[in-house]
Amino acid sequence: MLAELRGLNEECGVFGIWGDPNAAQITYYGLHALQHRGQEGAGIVVTDGQSLQAVKGEGLVSEVFSTGKLDHLKGSGAIGHVRYATAGGRGIENVQPLLFRSSTGSLAIAHNGNLVNANSLRRHLERQGSIFQSSSDTEVLAHLIKKSGYATFEQRAKNALSLLKGAFAVVMMTEDEMTVALDPNGLRPLSLGKLGDAWVVASETCAFDLIGAEYIRSIEPGEFLIINDEGMRAERFAFPQKRAICTMEYVYFSRPDSDIDGINIHMARKRLGKELAKELEIDADVVTGVPDSSISAAIGFSEATGIPYELGLIKNRYVGRTFIQPSQDLRERGVKMKLSPVRQVVNGKRVVMVDDSIVRGTTSRRIVTLLKEAGATEVHVVISSPPIKNPCFYGIDISSSEELIASNKSVEEMRVLIGADSLTFLSVEGMVRAIGRTDEGPDAGHCLACFTNNYPTEIYPDTVLPHKKELSR
Ligand code: SF4
Repeated sequence: MLAELRGLNEECGVFGIWGDPNAAQITYYGLHALQHRGQEGAGIVVTDGQSLQAVKGEGLVSEVFSTGKLDHLKGSGAIGHVRYATAGGRGIENVQPLLFRSSTGSLAIAHNGNLVNANSLRRHLERQGSIFQSSSDTEVLAHLIKKSGYATFEQRAKNALSLLKGAFAVVMMTEDEMTVALDPNGLRPLSLGKLGDAWVVASETCAFDLIGAEYIRSIEPGEFLIINDEGMRAERFAFPQKRAICTMEYVYFSRPDSDIDGINIHMARKRLGKELAKELEIDADVVTGVPDSSISAAIGFSEATGIPYELGLIKNRYVGRTFIQPSQDLRERGVKMKLSPVRQVVNGKRVVMVDDSIVRGTTSRRIVTLLKEAGATEVHVVISSPPIKNPCFYGIDISSSEELIASNKSVEEMRVLIGADSLTFLSVEGMVRAIGRTDEGPDAGHCLACFTNNYPTEIYPDTVLPHKKELSR
């Protein structure tokens, strides 16, 4: 579904490259491939071995790096970041990579995820005299590294990372090396590749395809990579815990051409659609998917049921972001600007509308209305994931429980509210089976907390939901 319509947003994408003279330009292209993970800010920091230079700004990658901005970013190491403004709120000071300068050297940090103990660490650091320049929880890591008593950067970084709890895929850079770390549960995806002799890391493998890099492997939970002119060394800052990759990466966030741990996202979504077809008997004329993320599941559902797949909904790609939505009436029109039904496809038909998830239900209701206004005689909504009943503390801007329709309504109540003729969700077991990870245990290496309320890490009384810091819709 369209992220900006629904209140379900990825927070960030990270990229890094070491060992290529065009590091900043390649990072720019890498960030382009990761643009779907955050559209509110972007930045690149580059090193020439002597100093770090940064260009950052609010907006899309193409807006931040308009003509000429990359020209003075010279050097063979670079890290970059795209962000959705949740953790820490909006404002240029929160756009990453965060860059810290001191007499002993500089440090740039790009972080995807959300720390669940950021508040307590921050209070502890402030009591010791730290002064924070942003409201981003990522800054906590920089202060921990700075305050650590160990002799080398490597030791200080490992020690600081071991104090963090929650989700963090981190790429850091000093004048002379890049370091990469993934939280002990591996909540967020992070992959390693090679471009000629250069090492690259990215939140998603689609960034490797765009720059022509070869995928090497996923970064392991608790792993710490040191990459410099000597090569790459893989170490650990923590023992791996129970693997808990975010299931919504497979269901919704990641691009269909990305792979996570060897599983292609498009193929996984097709299998989710096929699994739905096993769990549900339905008589209908046409299957359609809500663009873009539900198309793959709709194709899978169509293949398994034999009900023909059609493009019943079209996304208008050239609509700008609509921040001005003061009234319900204007909000309704906002959806019409972004999604249009294809009347010839749905008129007089019983339509199966496949979507990947329902958060507040308002968007589903609008899409059902659009299809019915275009002449659909029945609209059957099938969702390729289970009901989302619980908030996410790990960097996905899922609304708090009060705003999640599934946390306080039955499926039948939701069906009535969205105006559908039937409403079906995929089971948790069916979803895990369809994605096809082979890790041991019933969770098969997934985080399922927003469905099951079973969080893979401690959640503290002062853990802040990312969106509570900045709720824009
Ligand atoms: S709670 Fe849900 S959205 Fe958050 S990391 Fe877990 S699976 Fe992903």
